[in-house]
Amino acid sequence: MPTETFEFQVEARQLLQMMIHSIYSNKDVFLRELISNASDALDKLRIEALRDGTLGADVSDLHIGVEADPEARTLTVRDNGIGMSHDDVVGLIGTIAKSGTAEFLQQLKEARSAAAAEGLIGQFGVGFYSSFMVADEVTLVTRRAGEGKGTRWTSTGEGTYTIETVDEVPQGTSVTLRLKPVDTEDKVFDYTAPSKIREIVKRYSDFITWPIRMAGPGADPAAGDAAVDAAAGEPEAGDAPETRPEPEPETLNSRKALWARSRDEVSDEEYHELYKHISRDWADPLEIIQVRAEGTFEYQALLFLPSHPPRDIFAQDTPRGVQLYVKRVLIMEDCEALVPEYLRFVKGVVDAADLSLNVSREILQQDRQIQLMHRRLAKKVLSTIKEMRSNRPENYATFWREFGRVVKEGLLSDIDNRDAILAASSFATTHDAERPTTLHDYVERMKPGQQHIYYMTGESRSAIESSPHMEAFRDRGVEVLILTDAVDEVWVGAVPPFEGKELRSIAKGEADLDTGEETEEVKAEREQRQEEYAGLLTWMGERLSEEVKEVRLSSRLTTSPACVVSDTHDVTPALQNMFRAMGQEVPTSKRILELNPGHPLVESLRRAHADRASDPELPGTAELLYGMALLAEGSQIGDPARFTTLLAERLERTL
Ligand code: ADP
Ligand code: MG
Repeated sequence: MPTETFEFQVEARQLLQMMIHSIYSNKDVFLRELISNASDALDKLRIEALRDGTLGADVSDLHIGVEADPEARTLTVRDNGIGMSHDDVVGLIGTIAKSGTAEFLQQLKEARSAAAAEGLIGQFGVGFYSSFMVADEVTLVTRRAGEGKGTRWTSTGEGTYTIETVDEVPQGTSVTLRLKPVDTEDKVFDYTAPSKIREIVKRYSDFITWPIRMAGPGADPAAGDAAVDAAAGEPEAGDAPETRPEPEPETLNSRKALWARSRDEVSDEEYHELYKHISRDWADPLEIIQVRAEGTFEYQALLFLPSHPPRDIFAQDTPRGVQLYVKRVLIMEDCEALVPEYLRFVKGVVDAADLSLNVSREILQQDRQIQLMHRRLAKKVLSTIKEMRSNRPENYATFWREFGRVVKEGLLSDIDNRDAILAASSFATTHDAERPTTLHDYVERMKPGQQHIYYMTGESRSAIESSPHMEAFRDRGVEVLILTDAVDEVWVGAVPPFEGKELRSIAKGEADLDTGEETEEVKAEREQRQEEYAGLLTWMGERLSEEVKEVRLSSRLTTSPACVVSDTHDVTPALQNMFRAMGQEVPTSKRILELNPGHPLVESLRRAHADRASDPELPGTAELLYGMALLAEGSQIGDPARFTTLLAERLERTL
C-alpha cells in the first residue's frame, strides 16, 4: 500500500512543537488522555450498537489494554472501540478543530513565564498530542467498526505525518509510543514500569467504567498483543478468542461509579479526574454538586461547575449538557434536555434507574421524568451557586466573573426560577468598587424613602460612572448598580420587583429621587423655575424636533449642563443596537433632552432667549448643547462634521 505524507495544520504544528519542548511539567497525564480517548471510543461503539444493531461489531468484551515493552521502550494503549476511518484520522488527528485555537496560541506565545504557559495549556487541554511530551514517535493503528480496512498513522510530531492503509487490523485503535529516554530531571519517568503505569491509572483513570487491563508480569509482549487482538475480536472470526493462549491480565482500575457513592467515600481528586475526563478541561472544577433522588423515579447526578468557560461558550453549536447513563451504562454524551441553556457550562453525569436504553433526543425533550430531573437539577445548581457566595466567596467570585452573564440569560428564559437566579446573582455597584453586591444587600442599604433599585447599563464601569445621569445620585449618596453585560439590557426590563422594589434605570424616565420629601417651599421654587424656562423649553423642543421628543428641566444633573434620557418604556439605544446586530429591526424612539437649570450655560441661554429670541447664535448653541449631552453619555452624534464646525466657530471667537 502506498504511504502518503501529510502536513499538520498550522495550529496543530504549533501545539505539537510546544508538546515536544514540553511546556507542561506533569507529563504523566499523557496516559490519562490516551485512556480517556479509548474510553470515549468504547462508549461511542456501545451507543452506536444500541442504536443500530446492524453495526456488525463485536461488543462482547469491550476494554482498554495497556502494554509496555521495556526493551523496545514502547508503550501501547489499545481499545476495541469505535475506531477511525482514514478520513477521520486525517481530520481528527491532523487538525485541531477547537474554536479559538489561534487565539489560544497567540496567548501562549505572549505568556511571559512557564507557569503562565502551563496555566493556559491547563485551560485548553491538548488530548492526543500530549503523547509527544514523552514520545519521539507515535504510531496509531485503527479500524473503524464495520469497515474492512484499517489505517496506520505515524509521526514524530515534526511538521508531517504519514498515513497508509493496512489490512488485518483489529477493530478499534492502538496507539504506540516510542518513549523518550528516561529523564527524571525533565519529569520523563520510566513509563514501561508496571508500577508507574499502575500508579498513573489509579490516580487519573480509576473511575473509567471500562476495564483497563495490563498484560501480566513477565508476559511476552507479542503474546500480549495476540491476547488483546483476540479479545477485540474480528467480526468474522467467530469464537476465535477461546482458542488462543491468554496470559493473566491485571485490571488496573476499580471502575467504581463515583456518582453512586457517598461524598465521604470519594476524594476530591477522584471527582476532579472524572470531571476532567467528561469535560476535557485540564483544570479542576470549582464545585461538585451531588443529587440523589429515591422512590418511584430513582436517579443520581454528579454535576460540576468549571473554573473557566470553554472557549466557545457563546457559539451556537457547541455541545452542551451532561452525560446520561441508565443503570451505569452511558447512553448519551451531551444530553441537553437535562440542563437549561443558561446553565450550559454545567458538566457531569446523570444516572437514571428507569429509562429506556434506546431513547432519542427528540423523545427525551418530551419525557416527563427528564423534565422533572431538569427542573430539580436547575434548582440545585442555582441554590449551590447562592450557597457558594456565602461560604466560598472566592470561588463564587471566580464563578460569577466567568459565568455570570450566562446565568443571567435565565432571567429571560426561565420564569419559574427567576427569583432563584436573582438571589444567586451579584452586581457591580457604586457602593463598592471592588466587591459586587447582591440585590438583597442593596435593598438593605437603601436610603429612607428610596422606592427603587437604581441601575445604569452601559459599555463599561468608567463610562457609567462618568455619565451625567449619575450626578444627582452620586451627590446624594444613592447607590446605583453598574450593569455592563449585553444581557443586562434585556433582563432589567423583564423582571418583576425584587423584595417589593422595582428596578429603575437612572437614564430613563423622570429622576424621582425626591419623591415623598418635597416641601412646599421646594415645590414653589420648582414651579417658578418651570415657568421661567417654559419659553426656552418650547423653543428648543421645536428646534430639535427631528432629534428629540421633548426638552425638559432635569432634577438629575449637578455639574453637567444637559443629558439625554429615554422614556420609561422606550427601547434604549443599546438595546436597539443589540436587536439590530441580531438582524431585527426595531422602531427607533426619540429620546428626551434634559437641561440643568443650575448650570451657568443653561441659565445664560435662557436669558439670551428671553431677551433676544431672534439672535442668530441661539440655534447653534441649542444644537451644541444637545451634541454635548450625547457625547457625555458615550453616544454618537448624528452629524459630527456639523458639530465640530459649530464648535470651531465658537472657539475661534473666544481667542
Ligand atoms: P478530544 O478527546 O478532546 O476530542 P483528542 O486530541 O484527545 O481530543 O482526540 C481528538 C479526536 O481523535 C477525538 O475527539 C476522537 O474523535 C479521535 N480519537 C482519539 N483517540 C481515539 C481512539 N482511541 N478511538 C477513536 N477515536 C479517537
Ligand atoms: Mg481526548
